[in-house]
Amino acid sequence: MTSGHTPEITEKIQALINRSERSLSDVFYGFNNVEESTLKRILDAFHNNNIGQRHFAPTTGYGYDDTGRDALDRVFASALESEAALVRPHIVSGTHAAFLTLSGTLSSGDIMLSVTGKPYDTLEKAIGLDCAQPGSLTAMGVRYEELSLAENGKIDIDALKKRLENSAAPKAVYIQRSRGYAWRDSLLPQDMAATIDLAHNAGSIVIIDNCYGEFTQPHEPCYYGGDLQFGSLIKNPGGGIAPTGGYIAGRASLVERIAERLTVPGIGGEVGSYAASYQPFFQGLFLAPGVTAASLKSAALFADVFSRVGFDVLPAADSPRSDIVESIRLRSADGLKAFCRGIQAAAPVDSSAVPEPWDMPGYSHQVIMAAGSFIQGASIELSADGPMIPPYTAYVQGALSYQHGRLGVLYALEALVMDGIIRVSDIMG
Ligand SMILES: *Cc1c(COP(=O)(O)O)cnc(C)c1O
Repeated sequence: MTSGHTPEITEKIQALINRSERSLSDVFYGFNNVEESTLKRILDAFHNNNIGQRHFAPTTGYGYDDTGRDALDRVFASALESEAALVRPHIVSGTHAAFLTLSGTLSSGDIMLSVTGKPYDTLEKAIGLDCAQPGSLTAMGVRYEELSLAENGKIDIDALKKRLENSAAPKAVYIQRSRGYAWRDSLLPQDMAATIDLAHNAGSIVIIDNCYGEFTQPHEPCYYGGDLQFGSLIKNPGGGIAPTGGYIAGRASLVERIAERLTVPGIGGEVGSYAASYQPFFQGLFLAPGVTAASLKSAALFADVFSRVGFDVLPAADSPRSDIVESIRLRSADGLKAFCRGIQAAAPVDSSAVPEPWDMPGYSHQVIMAAGSFIQGASIELSADGPMIPPYTAYVQGALSYQHGRLGVLYALEALVMDGIIRVSDIMG
């Protein structure tokens, strides 16, 4: 018993979870295969770069000839199937990686064309979507255009063809792999290939927001020809160990321009030290396929269990997954709050905190979050969040171990029963 429930209720919930879990064995087997193939790729990268203790030595000052930093870039490049990578603790978030990528690539007069609708919320101000926020891309003279996704949730190839035939070629075509705060499927890297070919024929480069997607599928977007992809190290590729940071990976010439944006033109990625050692970034990358697989299994379990008790979920438990996020429509503000309270109660850290809606910087409406993580805000750890607007969708993601994700399902259901959002009879099916 976890929170004022009778043992009988907990037992019934456990029985439901057991039933779900048994039905998912083929799905889990698929995740194990992806884990092994991506781990093999990462292991090969460690071996080819002869990673040794010397790469973990702290560095200070300018960080000239920092072998740890340089090797980390090379290992990440291979892990992400790219020519080059820039991996830095100084990239403070995924949004920072996104802005560096875009501002290092686009100049005044260039067009950025998003083909997956409106980009992730925190990029609104960085791009300058509503107004040309000083320092934003639009304030720098970049022109922003977007195409909505097609009815089927995929990139609207016909609309893209028409757009490319009828007006000036964009400098960059932009794809968001993950769902963000939208009720849509994540995009499989292989499904980006047609868009990438069209863009290349028009002379455009393709930039992919890869946040939440890394290592969920056998290959990354750059494998299919993507020119640049970026992400956050407190999500999948940090494996729950990297304490902060972000990466940009892709074509070497483009990554070098972005490195010069991060530091200084003419200096680029040749400087930058880290006295705390890069060891957690190497170790985190090594653990990332396993942690990502644990997160995928947890997401599938949330999907199966919550659809059994009558909630709409996306994706369905056995659908292909290209990110670690599961969306669950709780249908009421009380439902969303109870769900987040349950997830928070299952956390190893700050478990007694009660999540409340708040005005989070970068978001246009109130957001509620459950995040009792070791690393502040790390959403590769079990976490949930959602905007406080109908239909009160919780986006749940992460789990450092599958068993912890499973406990998250238990605690969330207990909270929903406790608040009378679902009845015990719903659980018994
Ligand atoms: C998390 C995320 C971002 C932004 O990353 P932060 O680290 O929160 O700034 C951008 N795009 C997507 C799809 C994300 O999931």
